[in-house]
Amino acid sequence: MKISETIKERLLLGLIAAILGSIGWLATSIAKDAVEPFLKSVLPAINNKTLLLLCLMLFLVILILGTWVAFLLWGDKSERERKHYRFDQTTGTYVHKTEPQQRACASCWQDGVRPLKIHQSGWWCLKCNKYFEDPARIVKTAPPGSHISGRAIV
Ligand SMILES: [Zn+2]
Repeated sequence: MKISETIKERLLLGLIAAILGSIGWLATSIAKDAVEPFLKSVLPAINNKTLLLLCLMLFLVILILGTWVAFLLWGDKSERERKHYRFDQTTGTYVHKTEPQQRACASCWQDGVRPLKIHQSGWWCLKCNKYFEDPARIVKTAPPGSHISGRAIV
């Protein structure tokens, strides 16, 4: 019997959901059994002012941790941009992994991704004014007496 790929994926997804649901149910029942004696005996002994201060402290800790996690996820924008590029040994520039016509300056790499401007035989960085030659577009001077006079792209 042959099972199609989509049915296999759905079965695997259902199996993972069932396992995670079982683990969640077990964890909540264990936590409920562990917390119940605390709620019955210790909690009535704590006065409302102390409980309010504990809640306020917990709120502050959650706020600080949430800010820290948000900074880790979205804080360093340039690092996320750099992940989309790879270094090209032949040109000395960084090339976008999915859009190879986009290149970034290697000299300005630590400051962030600086896109290069396309030039006749290479790329130009407008930030640091560095020029990167493209070996595939080298401009050669035609030999004297040939039918091509001046410079030509080879
Ligand atoms: Zn640059």
